[in-house]
Amino acid sequence: MVTIAVTAERAGEPRIAVSPETVKKLTAMGLQVKVEAGAGAGSRFSDQQLAAQGAQIAATAGEALGGADVLLKVRRPTADELRALKSGAIVAAMLAPYDDRSGLEALAGSGAVLMAMEFMPRISRAQSMDVLSSQANLAGYKAIIDAAAMFGQALPMMMTAAGTVPAAKVFIMGVGVAGLQAIATARRLGAVVSATDVRPATKEQVASLGAKFIAVEDEEFKEAQTAAGYAKPMSAEYQKKQAELVAAHIKGQDVVITTALIPGRPAPRLVTAAMVESMKSGSVIVDLAAERGGNCELTQPDEVVEHKGVSIAGPLNLAGEVAVNASSLYAKNLLAFLETMIDKKEKTLKVNWDDELIKGTLVARDGKIVHPSLQHEGA
Ligand code: NAD
Repeated sequence: MVTIAVTAERAGEPRIAVSPETVKKLTAMGLQVKVEAGAGAGSRFSDQQLAAQGAQIAATAGEALGGADVLLKVRRPTADELRALKSGAIVAAMLAPYDDRSGLEALAGSGAVLMAMEFMPRISRAQSMDVLSSQANLAGYKAIIDAAAMFGQALPMMMTAAGTVPAAKVFIMGVGVAGLQAIATARRLGAVVSATDVRPATKEQVASLGAKFIAVEDEEFKEAQTAAGYAKPMSAEYQKKQAELVAAHIKGQDVVITTALIPGRPAPRLVTAAMVESMKSGSVIVDLAAERGGNCELTQPDEVVEHKGVSIAGPLNLAGEVAVNASSLYAKNLLAFLETMIDKKEKTLKVNWDDELIKGTLVARDGKIVHPSLQHEGA
C-alpha cells in the first residue's frame, strides 16, 4: 500500500499539505495517509476531522514518516525527515529551489525524489496544480485587507450629512496573480485603483477590473513578457523612465501594494526612499516582494517600518495568514499533482518521468540536483 506522510511545518508556518477533503480523496484512491498529530492545528484542521476522513494520526513525526513512499509538505522538509522515508521516496513541497543551495544539496543527498511545486509548468493541464497562483491570489487579497487596517482612514467614498469622506487611492505595482486579486479586492472596498506592470497583457486585465493602467509603453514594454508568461528584467533605460512615471504618480496615492517579481532574481526596485518621502503622512505600502529583497528600498522583511509618517510592511507569508483557505487550496494542488503519479487500478505509484509536469518540477533524483534551472551552480 502506498503511504503518504504529512508532518507539521516548522514554527511560523501555519499551513499544512493536506485537508480533510484531500485526505478523503486520497484514502478513497486506496492510499494510506499518515498525519503527525496536531499538524493541521494552524489551519483549523483537527486530528479528529482528518481522522474522520481516513487519515491515520501518528503521535510523532517519525511515526508518520517511517517507511513512507511520499512526503507532502508546504515548505522544505529537513534532511532528518527524508532519512526516515523509504529509499527513493517522492517529496512534493514548495522547496524554494533558488534559495540555500547547500541545504537543497543536503536534501538531494538523501536520495529522495524532490519535486518543487513552484516549478509547475504554467500550462492548462497543470492549472489545478499551480501553487504560485493559489497562494498568490490569497496573498493579494490579504495585502489589501492588511493595508486597509493599517490605513487610518476609510477606503470607500462616503457621502454623509456631516460631509464627504473621499475614496482612498490605491496603486498596485505588478499585476500578476496577486496584483489582480489586490485590484479586485480594493475595488470591492470602494477605492480608486490604478496599477502598473511591464507586461502588455496586463493592460486589458487592469481595465477589465475597473482600474486605471499606468506604464511606460515603449518598444521594450511590447517585448517584456517571456514565453512562459513572466516578466523579463528591464533595461536601465526603461527603469529610469519607469521611475519617473512612478515618482509622479505615487505621491498622490494613499495605499501602494507592490508585487513585482522576476523568477529566480532579486525583486526589481520600484519604490525609492525619495518616492516614499513624497507620499502623504499616513500612507501605507505593503511590499509582497519582501522575501526577494523587496520592491521598495525601505522594506524590511517581516516588519512594519515607519518612515516619515509612511508605514511600509514587508510580510513574508500573507497566504499563511489566511491558512484555512491557503491550506485547502494548496492541498488540492498537491492532490491533483499526485493523482498523475498513481496507477489507480493497481493502487501503486507509477511516475512517468517523461511527463512535462514531472520534468518541470523534478529538482533532484538519485542524490543529484537535476533541474536545468539549477545547473549553473555546478551540481
Ligand atoms: P510574478 O509573481 O512572477 O510577478 C508579479 C508581476 O510583477 C508580474 O505580472 C510581472 O509582470 C510584474 N513585474 C515584474 N517586473 C516588473 C517591473 N519591473 N515593473 C512592474 N511590474 C513588474 O507573476 P505571476 O503572478 O506568477 O504571473 C506571471 C504570469 O503567469 C502571468 O502572465 C500570469 O497570467 C501567468 N499565469 C499563468 C497561469 C497558467 O496558465 N496556468 C497560471 C498563473 C499565472
